[in-house]
Amino acid sequence: MDWKKIIKWLGIGGFISSFIALMFFVVIVMMLFANDSSDCGTGEGAGFNDSADTTQNAKMMYEYMISHDHATPEGAAGTLGVFEFESRFNPKVANGAGSGATGLAQWMGGRLTELHSWCNANGKDPNTLNGQIAFAMYEMKAKYPQSYAALKSNDVDHVVEVMTNNYEGLSQNPEQWHYEQRKPMAKRWLGQFSSDPVSASAITDSSDDAASQADDCGDGEGGDWAPPMKGNGAITGEQRFGHSESRQGNFHDGVDYGSSSFTNPNVYAAHGGKVVFAGDPGTVGMDNSFPNGLGKSFVVTKSDDGYYVVYQEFNTSTDGIKVHEGDQVTTGQLIGVRNTDHLHMGVTKMDWKKAEGHAFSNDGTWVDPLKLINSASKYQ
Ligand SMILES: [Zn+2]
Repeated sequence: MDWKKIIKWLGIGGFISSFIALMFFVVIVMMLFANDSSDCGTGEGAGFNDSADTTQNAKMMYEYMISHDHATPEGAAGTLGVFEFESRFNPKVANGAGSGATGLAQWMGGRLTELHSWCNANGKDPNTLNGQIAFAMYEMKAKYPQSYAALKSNDVDHVVEVMTNNYEGLSQNPEQWHYEQRKPMAKRWLGQFSSDPVSASAITDSSDDAASQADDCGDGEGGDWAPPMKGNGAITGEQRFGHSESRQGNFHDGVDYGSSSFTNPNVYAAHGGKVVFAGDPGTVGMDNSFPNGLGKSFVVTKSDDGYYVVYQEFNTSTDGIKVHEGDQVTTGQLIGVRNTDHLHMGVTKMDWKKAEGHAFSNDGTWVDPLKLINSASKYQ
């Protein structure tokens, strides 16, 4: 193409106006494509429509809601159904209709501004799902108590409705409810992550694989019960299992062995069993901070008499773990070393990952470890 000839033919003014017209045309075409994904807010951003990503992202958020906010499987999956409908879990997706709504929950206006300020204040990236799921949980807890309460529901359809009406603010817009899409999305995640605990995380996958390979030997023999730490100290007040004034749900789902009473830092198996998790709980989406979370050393054993025993909050690094997944441990065997001010020990007969969703309700999921230990207190 000979530009000089074209310019000569059009004249400079004609060339410039043609150029502007061409650019205008390009912009119009781009806007048409953007509007393709309007109305339901389910537009897919470039580079974020891979189904593997979707499952991985859904799993991460599911684990976060269960471990961090003690959601039930239904509560977490119901919330996922609503978020999937809003954004396909794409943290960067903007509503094609040009409303300015952005991200996982399609925040807009003041809520979008707060997403950014909250994430910045809390060291999180507002453009990632990690940052956005954390902000969503904060937002529900602080400003949408009806939605936050729904996280504990056992009715997934109810969760979808509350999240849509209350959290997404669509109670006056029935034409945007689209339950026929949101509810199946929620149920799909519920089926994928909860009915089969194996698929709930890569870690449970591997421990369950180990279980199937070791089917002949079954779970480790439970045997006796004994205190997990040595010392003469008492366990009093808020350290005890059960009613707790200071905690969420007024419930403490285990026993805290304080360092001032149990001065020896060694942590021993309180019951025999097979180690089904030994590692950083952050790797399975759980809160590994301390003192609010589980700490970075987290050990779970499973015994042939059906007990899962969890040991948490005892170390700020993974150096505190002295066993490996798949190990068989016996009562009194060294399993860890404490560097914090307490060890929290919990006992449940429910699959441990599901049980974490019941950490703040005294519904029988978690039982009092001292009742099991006291009859056989070897070290006190
Ligand atoms: Zn505790």
